[in-house]
Amino acid sequence: MATVLVVEDDQFVRSALIRHLADAGHTVRSVGTALEALREVAQVGFDVVILDLGLPDLDGSEALKMLRGLSDVPVIVATARDDEAEIVRLLNAGADDYLVKPFSVEHLSARLAAVLRRARGGAAGESAEGGRIRVGGLEIDVRRRLAVLDGGQLDLTRREFDLLAFLAARPGVVVPRRRLLAEVWQQSYGEDQTIDVHLSWLRRKLGETAARPRYLHTLRGVGVKLEPPA
Ligand code: CA
Repeated sequence: MATVLVVEDDQFVRSALIRHLADAGHTVRSVGTALEALREVAQVGFDVVILDLGLPDLDGSEALKMLRGLSDVPVIVATARDDEAEIVRLLNAGADDYLVKPFSVEHLSARLAAVLRRARGGAAGESAEGGRIRVGGLEIDVRRRLAVLDGGQLDLTRREFDLLAFLAARPGVVVPRRRLLAEVWQQSYGEDQTIDVHLSWLRRKLGETAARPRYLHTLRGVGVKLEPPA
């Protein structure tokens, strides 16, 4: 269970969020402006912040930037605009995940669980036992560069392994393409196609397709996430 800060100016949405989070056993504090949120974050150690982007006092991305300047607390941004360019910008600006309003309670719970799991898994998202990552039936030994799926060892190229390990270390987190290029390819610019091609090879080795994903989920225009199959 977590200590959650809800930043939301809409009373109706705010009460619904508080009720749901409290029912799920979380400790909740809530504020209605970005400045109050900054003050709270500076004073209280939250496990996660749910940040509405349409606040009365500060622009959402401005609020996110200031919050990031204060704390490494995981931030889930909630936006009313299903605007891919905006979402990518926010993920690159340090948001850990996002929700598009109106979102369901199930969606919120899933995002929250993923962000908390990642935060508690340590900075690199790896478990304590010597760089091993486990997501569903997938096991990755980072040090020995071995990947096993449902008991069978995967035959991966260097780049495929790096891509898989990077995503598996952040289960449930949408990683923007630009970040993949920067972290896995160590390039600041590149063709989206490069990522697509490697993803499709990796998918084939994992025994899945883009149309019928199990672990690898592409969010068109936004990025990629790895999640255990439901
Ligand atoms: Ca609002």
